[in-house]
Amino acid sequence: MNHNDHIDITIIGGGLAGLNCAYALHKRLPNKNITVLERGDRVMGLTSSASTGGFRNFFPNSRAMTNLSNRSIDLLLEYARASAGTGNEFMMNRCGYVFLSAQPEQMERYKKQAQAAHEFGSVPSILRWHSGAIRYNGHPYNPEKPAAVFSSVGFDFELYKTHKDGLDLIDDPAVIRKLVPDSVTKDVRVMFHVRKAGYLDVEGLGTCHREELMR
Ligand SMILES: Cc1cc2nc3c(=O)[nH]c(=O)nc-3n(C[C@H](O)[C@H](O)[C@H](O)COP(=O)(O)OP(=O)(O)OC[C@H]3O[C@@H](n4cnc5c(N)ncnc54)[C@H](O)[C@@H]3O)c2cc1C
Repeated sequence: MNHNDHIDITIIGGGLAGLNCAYALHKRLPNKNITVLERGDRVMGLTSSASTGGFRNFFPNSRAMTNLSNRSIDLLLEYARASAGTGNEFMMNRCGYVFLSAQPEQMERYKKQAQAAHEFGSVPSILRWHSGAIRYNGHPYNPEKPAAVFSSVGFDFELYKTHKDGLDLIDDPAVIRKLVPDSVTKDVRVMFHVRKAGYLDVEGLGTCHREELMR
């Protein structure tokens, strides 16, 4: 950049928020010159480089967070799809997010939270409660394998779309034991699985945005 460059939009900070903002603006305003200013020696070098990269749409105490996370996850899916040609650089999956409790009475709290999230209208789901031999709608609880959304050519959008939304509540010890090995804990009695959730590689997402902006 030199002093004669015309800049339409300046974004201060080259963490994930800044790069994502620049990327989204660039998609909408392709003819504008968007500049990201970073004071560190590299972008994605501060908080974003420490992130675990987990995401979920379950925030039963906040309608705003539920709406924000649903919208964000849908946008991330669009980005994953767009980057599929280059090998799904940020490895988004849908492995879900699991809450575990050793206290059976936690079941009622999870049910209430699920109801609250459902009332926000943005958890597009129903609670599927798998209790003992009872199976929701006759179907056993059978979560997808996180790796299943990838194939040798990258992100499998069609497969991703088939993943369930919503929430599963499980109190069947046999099912829990299969999914939560004794080496983690023997004490789990209740498992609550948020399905619109997973992980992604935050550095990879930043790189995708950066490369798109530099093109
Ligand atoms: C250990 C850890 C785990 C986390 N796990 C998760 C998770 O699983 N899921 C999740 O959603 N979130 C998680 N987070 C939170 C997430 O990482 C942050 O919310 C996100 O990275 C913040 O991005 P940012 O762009 O706002 O900030 P940053 O990544 O900190 O970027 C801000 C940038 O602005 C630059 N800057 C500051 N001032 C100026 C200035 N005056 N001029 C120019 N540049 C400037 C900084 O150098 C920096 O590069 C986690 C955070 C941590 C620390």
